[in-house]
Amino acid sequence: MNLVLLGPPGTGKGTIAKFIETTFKCTHVSTGDLLRDEVAKKTEIGLKVEPIMKDGKLVSDSIVLDILKKRLNEFNGYFILDGFPRNLAQGKMLDHLLDELKISLDVVLEIDSPVDVIVKRLSARRQCVDCKRIYGLDVPSKNEGLCDDCGGKTILRADDKPEIVEKRLNLYNETTKPLSDFYNEKGLLVKVDGNRTLQEIFSEVEKTLKKFESD
Ligand code: AMP
Repeated sequence: MNLVLLGPPGTGKGTIAKFIETTFKCTHVSTGDLLRDEVAKKTEIGLKVEPIMKDGKLVSDSIVLDILKKRLNEFNGYFILDGFPRNLAQGKMLDHLLDELKISLDVVLEIDSPVDVIVKRLSARRQCVDCKRIYGLDVPSKNEGLCDDCGGKTILRADDKPEIVEKRLNLYNETTKPLSDFYNEKGLLVKVDGNRTLQEIFSEVEKTLKKFESD
């Protein structure tokens, strides 16, 4: 099963994607992580996108599409797309790309939460600088400031600072939210309430996706 995860930043998309990855044997592809990798490696793309990402703005569609194409060509099997598409143009680009690769999209899972919950979650969120694991209110690291998996330093991402979070949420509502209708019209959209414990969300996601697996 191939799926797209939609939802504003701070709804636990990354953590939910990891759960789906292990439960349904899909590969988690996060365009945010792919871009952060480019920034960390100081590649030509990384140097270009770093100031845009720090400011909570969107990177150009063509750059993101290029790194996504490269990543999808690296493996065979199912994927969970997290962070792409981010606007209607990218939704149409994804349709073309999947046609080209002869891959079908099976389901689009939209996670939603109230704004105050999102802001609280994002300001508590930390990411390991080395392995990129995310920690938050629901899943804190055992030793504050250090990653449980690799011992790397965990930090507040530049784009999780409160003033940038507000910008990202506005941008989401203006630019990404319309994708909800786009996929609803295609009959692919399934909504999940993200304002619950992770265990409750995991259990609903599992029940929902099992239906698509057996279809
Ligand atoms: P994320 O980890 O998905 O919140 O992404 C972090 C940042 O990477 C975003 O704020 C954007 O600057 C950039 N980004 C990630 N995915 C995309 C995309 N599909 N289109 C444009 N910019 C993106």
